Amino acid sequence: MVTSAEFLLSASNAGHFPPEGMPEVAFLGRSNVGKSTLLNRLLGQKLAFTSSTPGRTQSVNFFRVEDRMIFVDLPGYGYAKAPKSVSRAWQEVVDAYLLQREKLALCCVLLDSRRGWMETDLQLKEWLEFHQRPYVVVATKVDKLNQKEKNASQKAIREHYPSGEIIWFSGLSGQGVKEIWQTIWKRTVR
Ligand code: GDP
Repeated sequence: MVTSAEFLLSASNAGHFPPEGMPEVAFLGRSNVGKSTLLNRLLGQKLAFTSSTPGRTQSVNFFRVEDRMIFVDLPGYGYAKAPKSVSRAWQEVVDAYLLQREKLALCCVLLDSRRGWMETDLQLKEWLEFHQRPYVVVATKVDKLNQKEKNASQKAIREHYPSGEIIWFSGLSGQGVKEIWQTIWKRTVR
């Protein structure tokens, strides 16, 4: 659990990103995957305002955490009802972020554990691998699965991600918060 986290700024294009400094941890996932819930759990406060309209927020939100690292909330992708212009805007700002930031230490790729990899998640994964950006998978809403369903979900996720770390997370119970923090600390020590 962190003792201090503060919202820095919201950037709708790369020109508004803050100067690089501390290591950065980025959070990515489809709209409604539970990204705001996860960020609120990690930061222990309502910093990552839950958006009521999925896919609406097209900005990259930066948070300073404990004067040690920056959390970066990238806009949720894959919202079916979003017009083409919105998905293009998403792509531009996210590409700019992922390509440019030298201090990007880790990407947390959020998957809804009931759904596993969707087409856009796989595209993102391939993109991250191509550009050699480090990432881990966070499987969200695990409280909605029984053990059998969780096993099936794990098998499905493993098909496209055979050996990387999978962190099972529940915003309801807090399961996984400790594991995510451990992974973040490990990847951001200088
Ligand atoms: P975002 O669009 O990715 O930021 O998703 P939100 O955090 O706003 O969550 C989308 C919906 O899923 C909300 O109704 C949340 O209450 C619900 N939700 C998020 N995380 C969990 C979870 O771990 N368990 C359950 N049962 N519901 C969740």
